[in-house]
Amino acid sequence: MPFPLAHQLGSLFYPADCLLCHASQKDLRHWVCEPCYAGLCALPLAGQRDIRLGNSRVMPVFSRWFYDETVQELIHALKYARHFSLAAQLGEELTRGLEQAGWDMQGCILVPVPLHKRRLEERGFNQSEKLARAIAKATDARLKVVPLVRRVRYTQSQTQLSSEQRQQNVAGAFALSRMRKRHVAGARLMLVDDVLTTGATLQACAHILLAGGAAEVRAITMARVHA
Ligand SMILES: [Zn+2]
Repeated sequence: MPFPLAHQLGSLFYPADCLLCHASQKDLRHWVCEPCYAGLCALPLAGQRDIRLGNSRVMPVFSRWFYDETVQELIHALKYARHFSLAAQLGEELTRGLEQAGWDMQGCILVPVPLHKRRLEERGFNQSEKLARAIAKATDARLKVVPLVRRVRYTQSQTQLSSEQRQQNVAGAFALSRMRKRHVAGARLMLVDDVLTTGATLQACAHILLAGGAAEVRAITMARVHA
């Protein structure tokens, strides 16, 4: 999807037009204009879905929005066009949604779903980490962001894969961060990712964290595919 040059250069420049309605904006701090943002905030919560982890354990996953064209455009802008201030807007609304849903986040550590080093080098940043930092900021930094999981195997993009293929694709792809292992034992952790599709990636990360001794693992995503 082509973006105007100013948008491609991302946070180096202030946005001129709203990403969604393309109207020129008065408030130049954000990528989505006030009326469009109000519209996003008025959309219903996708809410909680439980992902099976085996041994009768489940991982509750909270998603703010259902995945549709608008949300796809926002995620695309965040991922590929370096619209970092967009993460702040989305993180704020994601946090409001979590509060509305009554999620207890006291003392939780936010754990971004990692990118492989190679992909991180290509992209220059991890959008899940941007989202996690935005959530931490929206909660007055009561929450810490600690990258506890690393991606040890380069995996192909999952968009064209079936549910089973996705599980195979991420098998053995993650490991605990060697430097930060000590944060895991007994901790309440919340994985952060952009989209929940089949849950294969979150499942694989949760297994690593539980094996490392985490007391509890939940997850937050910006959007969830209808299912
Ligand atoms: Zn707009």
